[in-house]
Amino acid sequence: MSRPETTPLWDMPEPVRAPRPERAPKAEPAKGSQVKAKLKKAKSAAAERRGQQQGAAENPVARVVVDIPLTHLDRTFDYRVPESLDEAAVPGCRVRVRFAGQLVDGFLLERAETTEHQGKLAFLERVTSSEPVLTPVLATLGRAVAERYGGTLIDVLRLAIPPRHGKAESEPAREVAENPPTPDAAAWARYQNGSAFIEALAVPRPANAVWQALPGENWPHRLAEAAAAVAATGRGAVLVVPDHRDLTRLHEACVELMGAEAVVSLIAGLGPAERYRRWLAVLRGAVRVVVGTRAAMFAPVADPGLYVVWDDGDDLHLDPHAPYPHVRDVLMLRAHADKATLLAGGFARTAEAQLLVESGWAQPIVADRAELRAAAPRVTPVGEDFDVARDEAAKAARLPSVAFEAARQSLANGAPVLVQVPRRGYVPGLACGNCRTPAHCRRCAGPLALPGGADDGVPRPPGCRWCGVPDTNFRCAACGSVRLRAVIVGARRTAEELGRAFPGVPVRTSGATEVLASVPAKPALVVCTPGAEPVAADGYGAALLLDGWALLGRQDLRAGEETLRRWMAAAAMVRPSTAGGRVIVGAEAGLAVVQALVRWDPVWHAAQELAERNELGFPPAMRMASIEGTPEAVAAVLGDLALPESGEVLGPVPLGDVDEDGRSDRERALVRVARGEGKALASAIHAASARRDMRKEPEPIRIQLDPLDLI
Ligand SMILES: [Zn+2]
Ligand SMILES: [Zn+2]
Repeated sequence: MSRPETTPLWDMPEPVRAPRPERAPKAEPAKGSQVKAKLKKAKSAAAERRGQQQGAAENPVARVVVDIPLTHLDRTFDYRVPESLDEAAVPGCRVRVRFAGQLVDGFLLERAETTEHQGKLAFLERVTSSEPVLTPVLATLGRAVAERYGGTLIDVLRLAIPPRHGKAESEPAREVAENPPTPDAAAWARYQNGSAFIEALAVPRPANAVWQALPGENWPHRLAEAAAAVAATGRGAVLVVPDHRDLTRLHEACVELMGAEAVVSLIAGLGPAERYRRWLAVLRGAVRVVVGTRAAMFAPVADPGLYVVWDDGDDLHLDPHAPYPHVRDVLMLRAHADKATLLAGGFARTAEAQLLVESGWAQPIVADRAELRAAAPRVTPVGEDFDVARDEAAKAARLPSVAFEAARQSLANGAPVLVQVPRRGYVPGLACGNCRTPAHCRRCAGPLALPGGADDGVPRPPGCRWCGVPDTNFRCAACGSVRLRAVIVGARRTAEELGRAFPGVPVRTSGATEVLASVPAKPALVVCTPGAEPVAADGYGAALLLDGWALLGRQDLRAGEETLRRWMAAAAMVRPSTAGGRVIVGAEAGLAVVQALVRWDPVWHAAQELAERNELGFPPAMRMASIEGTPEAVAAVLGDLALPESGEVLGPVPLGDVDEDGRSDRERALVRVARGEGKALASAIHAASARRDMRKEPEPIRIQLDPLDLI
């Protein structure tokens, strides 16, 4: 594909550089002037006197990343390599060292001739294993990820390198898989830029892209073709999907195309031996194609050419452990550092992916309208005032007649019907009583909510969930109405109610307790929560997305984007309209998100979403951090945080249950900065955390950059 020179994005990393070695062997920082001491020949006098250990003759200094979760210790420490460990202590291996009197684990980052530490270096205690697990590339990536999120290198390494398993390590290495043949990628020709993208992978030439899959697309096969195009040239690919079911499909597609030897699947819950065995096969270069869930984002694949994130809007792509890295962002860092290609694919498009396209960092891969018309089901919105089906049982299930008819038609054609029922437990937000636009704070554009409680018997007015400022005279920014309403939480339909409307039809459910992978191509009612939709062999004849209000009315800034993502994922499983496929969506036709579904235009919606977030100062237009903890701890961090120029503090506001005075024992503050100053915010957070850890502050606190739930 013809594309301009890659424009580095706002927060792309600096050119790749080696991790900075630092000094000091013990917990106490070295004092006084840092004198370079040549250690090559100088034996430790004390050791010699005791007749114990001698230092290695060559490169006697080991720079070690110690496994201690304290931010002010986020650097390497120098140790002396005893002669007895000279051969075993290879760069990247796991070691044990004495640190502040304790034996701790660490990674040997590199060997060196000299140290800047003044005084005697402690010896390495032990080399746990000579397997070089911390490669230079992984060390650089770990540092880049830590810097992006204001976290520590060791926290990232804990996510990136699985625990060692001795037996798996001592087994004979897996044989190197042969390069698979160049795949037939003709199916990519249905998309503009599609064939050019696959060709660029084979050249190879970086060709970052954002791909919107057509409804009904066999996306696991398309991704497998992209991976095979890269692997055929002897390079590696890492493909990350949100969950197990997606992974199973993707793995099968890859095996079909490249053979079982060429692919490895990395997933949580494998058991320590198997997990480590597979990870080692990747590290040792035996396998070039890695598919996996979240943790696979760090997979140390050799000579990488392609990184793929599927459905980047899924919140499973955010790691819940510090420093809370996101798959899309980590793969972006890797693609940039390795001069490889990033592909972000999905049926819908996130505002973040839209930004990649608008900034010129990625090219869009989308189908034209003619292809879309041929592939998409017919979508019919049903607002609140719908004709209820006349059938008694359907009426009891409050089924709109159009939904009832679409379902009956599908069943009569021998095809299953998908019914998407939103999960319980979404927190409803406040919206304009007239036009339903979510209610925003006039000061910071955060979401308005009812705080609960009363002052002198008068209920407290709505307040901002971000900055805490009450809003006593709301006026809708979209239509000027002064009416506010809590989004209605109506009764949800149950599988039993729905089943009674279609007597004799088997009802299958897929959701929290049991998630079905697939259903046969037979008449059935398949009731499921968003994200748990089973694959139907020949597609569903109809999908009923009935309680759209529950998804749309969520108190979440991403509610619109998330709703469209959930709807499209379900609707994409329905047969095309030319084969009678129908989608009934229970939401007002005038809403932008409903229009985007009716016209099947995720790109238009993402552009609108991004424009709105730019205007309101929401991510990804701005970078935000949340600081949660006791009121005292939050106040202390805020007081100590050296914010960049554009920095703005919102709140703190109470979290969870509040007492009569509106106080809570937990608070949250938000900090936001212009996107260009995101890196400065990350380093300010790192510095503030380091000072906290140095002071040994007892109160736990959670600081997260780029949190997903901004409610
Ligand atoms: Zn309004
Ligand atoms: Zn506010």
